[in-house]
Amino acid sequence: MRDQELRERLALACRVLYCEGHDHYFLGHLSARASSGDAIWVKPAGLGLEEIQADDLALMDLDGRKLEGTHPLHNEMPIHTEIYRRRGDVHAIVHTHPFYATALASSQARFELVGQDSVLFARGVGRYPSAELVTAIEQGQRVADALGDLRAVLMKNHGITVVGETIEQATVWAASLERSCRVQLAATQFGPLAPIAPDEVERMEERFERGYAGRTEALWRYLARKAERSAVGRRQ
Ligand SMILES: [Zn+2]
Repeated sequence: MRDQELRERLALACRVLYCEGHDHYFLGHLSARASSGDAIWVKPAGLGLEEIQADDLALMDLDGRKLEGTHPLHNEMPIHTEIYRRRGDVHAIVHTHPFYATALASSQARFELVGQDSVLFARGVGRYPSAELVTAIEQGQRVADALGDLRAVLMKNHGITVVGETIEQATVWAASLERSCRVQLAATQFGPLAPIAPDEVERMEERFERGYAGRTEALWRYLARKAERSAVGRRQ
């Protein structure tokens, strides 16, 4: 994919996640590997997710040096650089502080497979055990350790990091993770949790992953239309 197209898509992903409850002032950041492969496009600091347009994105190398862009970088770039170094399959990363997932990450509760969206995380989610912001390389490496080969990691008292092979995947999965945590909290209030039975999880996962080709892309297109229908992204 050409870099301009990548940037348009990454900026749209920021606005999508704003609409899906991932806003927290101007915090949180998304990135995607540039077409050259040895640099990444990343959301800069100072602008909210809903305000991001393609031209706002910064280009940085995996040593954290800004190559292009007028806005400052967020301090937590080691989350991105260290995961990209570790995971060749990852081409997009979402790090946000969505309300319900952050609440779950601030508790000792396990992530449970209770809603349809949760099946995307049937292999589990990682837990990063420190509340401190991830500003040093070693911290980024520990986030990558906690993520392992999974899709997402809950970061204690902080937020989430979700990875994908594409921007669409990382975005849909990040939206699904927040929704799963929201359902889990509501279900907890109704009474004892009734997670999806393991054999059903297996069948549902098979269907989501292989039996329904294009599901992620269809969900992405819907979320993109929803974001574009709203007023987000029209910065004054
Ligand atoms: Zn953060």
